[in-house]
Amino acid sequence: MTKVQNLTILGATGTIGVNTLDVVARHPERFNIVALTASTQLEKLVEQCRRYQPRYAVVLDERAAARLRGMLRDAGVSTQVLCGIEALEQVASMPEVDTVMAAIVGAAGLRPAMAAAHAGKRILLANKETLVMAGRLFMQAVAAGGAELLPIDSEHNAIFQSLPREFKGDLAACGVRRILLTASGGPFRTLPLDDLPHVTPDQACTHPNWVMGKKISVDSATMMNKGLEVIEAHWLFNAAPERIQVVIHPQSVIHSMVDYLDGSVIAQLGNPDMRTPIAYALGFPERIDSGVSALDLFGRGLTFEAPDYSRFPCLKLAFDALAQGGMLPAVLNAANEAAVAAFLAGQAGYGDIAASIEYALARAISGEPGSLDDLVEADAQARRDAGAYLQTRAIN
Ligand code: NDP
Ligand code: MG
Repeated sequence: MTKVQNLTILGATGTIGVNTLDVVARHPERFNIVALTASTQLEKLVEQCRRYQPRYAVVLDERAAARLRGMLRDAGVSTQVLCGIEALEQVASMPEVDTVMAAIVGAAGLRPAMAAAHAGKRILLANKETLVMAGRLFMQAVAAGGAELLPIDSEHNAIFQSLPREFKGDLAACGVRRILLTASGGPFRTLPLDDLPHVTPDQACTHPNWVMGKKISVDSATMMNKGLEVIEAHWLFNAAPERIQVVIHPQSVIHSMVDYLDGSVIAQLGNPDMRTPIAYALGFPERIDSGVSALDLFGRGLTFEAPDYSRFPCLKLAFDALAQGGMLPAVLNAANEAAVAAFLAGQAGYGDIAASIEYALARAISGEPGSLDDLVEADAQARRDAGAYLQTRAIN
């Protein structure tokens, strides 16, 4: 009989969190929810608590916690409410938890993911920003804590599935020549370049193949998402940047590939539905039903293109930040978060996203971070720099 896995879902109310609960609901004999966390969507969290009866629910501050307590009481649910970053760290590391789904969006996901790493949990990592910001420190914490890392990002999950099971961080020893990281190219892949500066947040958030949170949808449009994923792949698979090739594949059927020395290319394919990588990681090493329909290959063409940096300058900025290393990937990530938030709020144009990141990178201090505090400081400075740039360009 399979042992019941005790789960914490960080970011339960988000796209990944909801998909995780969808897979969990298909296997009640396998999973027990210990904690669910959220930020703003309290009604949704109450509904999840009613259905999954976690021991803990975590929100960001005391006000939200007080509201949530009242709502849970009215709903007759006995879940205990905690709040704040320490509580997120606590539910990511407590002894009764086996597995942590790290699906908070953005830099806010870093500290709880670190806590899970130090505590030696099985970590299902969706929050790519953790690796972008603090790749070295996080991988060290995973090793020191004896944690197990399973990638949720569909590309990295595909690469993980296409590597030999015995892979332990040495690609060359496994005969790997390159990692081929696929990208859809987003909604603006074929838009005339002159029209790009005028695109709206709604257009940027309408992804052709995937349904995702707003921030990652904009990142897909600019291809910063792929840039962040290059950095993520670098840390997860110990891959030098020149061993990672980005391949635009508009149909999003192949989720990424591994190119071996003998000329073999191993790929993972599937419908674009995050429940597949989530179920793979939840069941690992077993395969479990995810609710995703079988892939129908008939009548489909699979095509591939090289990315064009003049259309996708954010991808180039990410490769450059990775090559320079140190704190620059954290700066890239923070400036991007600030710029995307401004774009989504109608306070910045689409072209300002890449320009403000470039501005922040040019002002950043290089050098290796000694601690998370160094990164948090670099992150804050990058947000100020990007903000200062956007101020000069403010749309009224
Ligand atoms: P969403 O925006 O849909 O969800 C984010 C979750 O994090 C929500 O539960 C949200 O709470 C919570 N949250 C937001 N801000 C904070 C904060 N400051 N502190 C604590 N919790 C917070 O994002 P996605 O689910 O799309 O993405 C989650 C992560 O997974 C991201 O890092 C993304 O890059 C990665 N990812 C997502 C993919 C996808 O297909 N969606 C694919 C690959 C990776 P609330 O909703 O209650 O406000
Ligand atoms: Mg991805």
